[in-house]
Amino acid sequence: MESSSLNLEETPCNLCGSKESAVLYERPYLTPHDGESGAFAATTDEFRNYGRIVYCLKCGLRYTNPRPAASLILSGYGNCVDESYLLESSSRSINAHLSLNTIKRFISSGSLLEVGSSVGYFLNAARTDFEVTGLEPSHWATEEAKRRFKIECYPESIENPKSIEGRNFDVIAMSDVIEHLLDPKAALLSSRRFLKPGGILYLLTPDIGSLSAKIMRGYWWGLRPAHIYYFSRQTMMRMLIESGFEILTIKSFGRIFTYSYWLSRLKNYPKSVFLTAGGLIKVLGLENKLVYIDTRDSMEICARKR
Ligand SMILES: [Zn+2]
Repeated sequence: MESSSLNLEETPCNLCGSKESAVLYERPYLTPHDGESGAFAATTDEFRNYGRIVYCLKCGLRYTNPRPAASLILSGYGNCVDESYLLESSSRSINAHLSLNTIKRFISSGSLLEVGSSVGYFLNAARTDFEVTGLEPSHWATEEAKRRFKIECYPESIENPKSIEGRNFDVIAMSDVIEHLLDPKAALLSSRRFLKPGGILYLLTPDIGSLSAKIMRGYWWGLRPAHIYYFSRQTMMRMLIESGFEILTIKSFGRIFTYSYWLSRLKNYPKSVFLTAGGLIKVLGLENKLVYIDTRDSMEICARKR
């Protein structure tokens, strides 16, 4: 099914408001089944290719334009059930500790809100030091977080979080979330509102300005149908500063996963690469072994509320 059958919307630049943009990469959306595209938002494989990615001619922000209608994206996340996410539970918990190490350089205790808390791995790791609360649009994930970890978690977004109205947090964390949001600027402004004075915002997102993004171009792993914004260090810092934050640190973020998971990330690469890597991992019996890799194309940022 071609993109023409999807409900797509044009959007202006989220950083500077300009409507002037030029095409960077384009691989039209393909849905494998019928019109059931509501599920595309969270499950990459449900919805192949990433549409049209443009860059703003005024400020350089990269984003998907046009993009699937807001109602499609929101219902996609609300209804998302992702059992495969549970398979990498041990490595996700370890990655949570990598994020916490960075956060604890600036604050070691207090209240912490995670936006996009999924099934609660990060919050479960964080509660050794922090009082934790989660916001997560997926009803399924919210229930999993409550059931597995007894975490306080609400099926809401940071733009309109009714359940936490009137509360303020020492830390707000968003890992691999901001690139999925319809309005990242509004999310940062809202996060600022829910932080205590001097509170810390932690962000993790792919870095489209990285060397591997530049080398891999249209084949880079960060280009996915569910990602609608692609930040570089430059555009991310500008948006944070304009949203009332002071940057404390910005650096690349490595991750720990099984070899099989890393292999699944190579799926979009030329077949020879995928088959060679896959064959090697099988021969060596490494499928379930954990490995730490810093491909230097994810960035983690700590910023302080001004
Ligand atoms: Zn712009």
